[in-house]
Amino acid sequence: MWTKKYKECLNCNTQRRRHKSNGYCLKCQPVIYKLKIANSWNFNNKQSLETFPMDVIHLKEVKFEKMKKVFIKQLENRLDYLKKREHKIITHEIEGTDLEYGFNRLASLCNPKNKSLFHGYANVFDHNFNSEQKTIIFKLIDEIESSIPVKIFNFVEAIKA
Ligand SMILES: [Zn+2]
Repeated sequence: MWTKKYKECLNCNTQRRRHKSNGYCLKCQPVIYKLKIANSWNFNNKQSLETFPMDVIHLKEVKFEKMKKVFIKQLENRLDYLKKREHKIITHEIEGTDLEYGFNRLASLCNPKNKSLFHGYANVFDHNFNSEQKTIIFKLIDEIESSIPVKIFNFVEAIKA
């Protein structure tokens, strides 16, 4: 058991991350919380809009509703991303390409000249490591990426809505 009440995170099914509250892990819970708030945004209730990620003063209601939809979709996508990523780890379905892309993402954090430093490395991983070993390496990549703060809301996408 993960906690007294929950077998695993209600969203991503993790047991390796700590429980935060109400059955959600420390990665999923803040998104669940934001989603709850986002669903309560009401154009005619100024107080509810204090947590809206953008200034609503110049927004028309129709535009607001469109943007609200986009922000909610972004939160749902984040939950889906966390779930899919954890699923790969739980089931040991990590492929060489997952590691190739993962190392490229880590490398890009260092601003290298070559944006795909590990291009073609998928085969190297697939030929040298079994699925359990690849999962261990992926967890290490995940450890680094999980420690980077994420911006869930994409304003450009919302404005274009
Ligand atoms: Zn979770």
